[in-house]
Amino acid sequence: MKTNEIDFNNYFKTYPDSKGYFGKYGGSYISPELQVAMDEIAEAYQTICKSRRFISELRRIRKEFQGRPTPISHFERLSDRIGTGVQLYGKREDLNHTGAHKLNHCMGEVLLASFMGKKKVIAETGAGQHGVALATAAAYFGMECDIYMGAVDIRKQAPNVARMKILGAKVIEVTDGLATLKEAVDAAFAAYSREYKDAIYCIGSVVGPHPFPMIVRDFQAVVGFEAREQFIGMTGELPDALVACVGGGSNSIGLFAGFLNDPVDIYGIEPLGRGSRMGDHAASLTYGEEGVMHGFNSIMLKDENGNPAPVYSVASGLDYPSSGPEHAFLRDIGRVKYDVVTDEETVDAFFELSRMEGVIPAIESAHAVAYAIKLARTMGKGSILINLSGRGDKDMDFIIEKYGIR
Ligand SMILES: *Cc1c(COP(=O)(O)O)cnc(C)c1O
Repeated sequence: MKTNEIDFNNYFKTYPDSKGYFGKYGGSYISPELQVAMDEIAEAYQTICKSRRFISELRRIRKEFQGRPTPISHFERLSDRIGTGVQLYGKREDLNHTGAHKLNHCMGEVLLASFMGKKKVIAETGAGQHGVALATAAAYFGMECDIYMGAVDIRKQAPNVARMKILGAKVIEVTDGLATLKEAVDAAFAAYSREYKDAIYCIGSVVGPHPFPMIVRDFQAVVGFEAREQFIGMTGELPDALVACVGGGSNSIGLFAGFLNDPVDIYGIEPLGRGSRMGDHAASLTYGEEGVMHGFNSIMLKDENGNPAPVYSVASGLDYPSSGPEHAFLRDIGRVKYDVVTDEETVDAFFELSRMEGVIPAIESAHAVAYAIKLARTMGKGSILINLSGRGDKDMDFIIEKYGIR
């Protein structure tokens, strides 16, 4: 299928289908026990998300607790410096409570859990960003929160571990294997299959088995719907291009969701890290092939044995060997173009946006900034809207230590 064969007027009703497929990608490849739990969530979501009480409660929370709508900023000094006449804008998810877009789906997921009568939320975390967002949402709703984290990551991410504990979450140390994210995922899934009657599993991006890629997309779509209205309000027209970074793919799909039916070029940017050799990057949609991992079918980076390949990026939020199934689909039909930037280009953009605009971006978001700057140099005129998925406070020490002040 190609872009012009898709009915974007009914896109959200058509994709995913009732089994969770976006074309051939997505679905649910899990044990029968877990499937029972996923079916329960999918069924509950279908009714609850349409109820007036759920919709109005989510709206109220976004406004009164999260601080939505987040603004769009016109990056005039940066645009002037590029000098081609192209105007850059940023959707400021860094100003969302907790400093990143992840709270958008965590508040939605925990609200859903409370409507389902659950008492506990369970998740794994690697760098700790998802754990902190979920612990925040759990505290807001007075829910128990168990976060599984590898022992190695616990040592590396002390501030986020402290945040989760202050917020009342239980951080459960996982010591199996390499004691990092993969083992934490396994431990969290195992706990969930034991506890699913009282608990709900909360995924951190548009990945995992159905219904998560759909649920997380729907909750993140607020970013794109807000941005479309705001951008037209500010400029009287649509942006010519959108740029967002892609790890699992939640912040990008959120922005893109508002513009799929518009004449807007859309770019998803993956981390090229140190280069194109296996193990030096995490550009799954650019270099990967079709496969199943973590319960869903998508494009993934595989090693010689067909297992998930080792990945690397300066941004710990982007070093995942696959991306959400909807991205694989949007790539195949040609609606979104996926491209890469290196660590070096990203670090330059991190300093550039900080100096020119007074906005220190998350190192993940700096990938989108780096690409937007390159795109602006080739475009000649027009406008680019960047998703600033988060703020860079968490990255400052590491960047200065590794790269120095630029
Ligand atoms: C986690 C994270 C990302 C990557 O996740 P996606 O699901 O691809 O959006 C990007 N930016 C920030 C600030 C993050 O915390």
